[in-house]
Amino acid sequence: MRTVTFVGPRELRFDDVEDPSIVDPTDALVRPISATTCDLDQWTIQEKVPLSMMAPFQIGHECVARVIEVGSECTLNVGDVVSVAWHIACGTCERCKAGLPANCKKHSGSQYGLPLRGLWGSTFSELIRVPYASYNCLTLPGTVDPIHLASLSDNLALGWETTIATCHKEGLTNPEIAVFGGTGSIGLYVAQVAAALAGGRVVFYDDDLVRLAVAEKVGAEVRDINGPIDNHYDIAVDATCDPEKLRKALVSVRPEGWVNSVGIYFADVEIPMLSLYQRGVNFHNGKGHARPCMDPIVEAVATGTIKPELVTSGVYDWEQIPEILTGENPGHKPIFTLPDA
Ligand SMILES: [Zn+2]
Ligand SMILES: [Zn+2]
Repeated sequence: MRTVTFVGPRELRFDDVEDPSIVDPTDALVRPISATTCDLDQWTIQEKVPLSMMAPFQIGHECVARVIEVGSECTLNVGDVVSVAWHIACGTCERCKAGLPANCKKHSGSQYGLPLRGLWGSTFSELIRVPYASYNCLTLPGTVDPIHLASLSDNLALGWETTIATCHKEGLTNPEIAVFGGTGSIGLYVAQVAAALAGGRVVFYDDDLVRLAVAEKVGAEVRDINGPIDNHYDIAVDATCDPEKLRKALVSVRPEGWVNSVGIYFADVEIPMLSLYQRGVNFHNGKGHARPCMDPIVEAVATGTIKPELVTSGVYDWEQIPEILTGENPGHKPIFTLPDA
């Protein structure tokens, strides 16, 4: 089969590699229908984050795929169209059961498309072996378009986790939510899910005109991130990956408010600790626990409440993956489609 290899900054190529096969009875083999970049992938390709020293590696961890083969204990059906969570998680340990699969006790750190803890293939590959597939995959109903759900594996799922999950946990019914964009698609999906489902008000801060226009379309009020920032939000989401802007998010919430950061910081950053102390801010930073967040988003997409196609920046042929992703303007969410075999 063919896969896309990240060779180094701004360099991707198709490689022929051996097909994966079923190893454990809980595995499935799937073939992507649509796949896309996590914001981290684009930053990696463009050398904005220090991951190129690990090159070469197979890149990509967001896709919707068709089930091609299942192990004897896998409950998926051959032919099912599934969203594949980015993480490798067992689904049965205490953390997975608590809804924290990114830190699965058996596989924390393992994922597709990054050589962090084992090699698990990648979603820009023609075949993917999915361990614990009954848990890590969500079968999509025939009523939703699989193309624009490519990001449900990760970035789109963050929309639920960083806003609605916090509202449910903390009993917030009419929240004011600030979203600080910057990495690419994450802030947009977060603004979209929050505007559709939180029941309050969503303000999206960014300095990119294209993303500001998308955020407005998905139902957020938009503001210049370099202008004044209000400080009364119940929840702020930092999707900037910029220490100066993280600071803006941290001081934007009211006393006892919540800040969820999903931009990855590869170096230590200064935190306004006294301000956080005085207001009693709840700060969370960590990998997205995609799998439990996928179901409620699909339900909202099926009813037309969430339209992920509004965030898609372009739909391209699979053959164009290297050309688009190493080009001048890959777009904030380019989706690539692979024809059924
Ligand atoms: Zn990711
Ligand atoms: Zn687990």
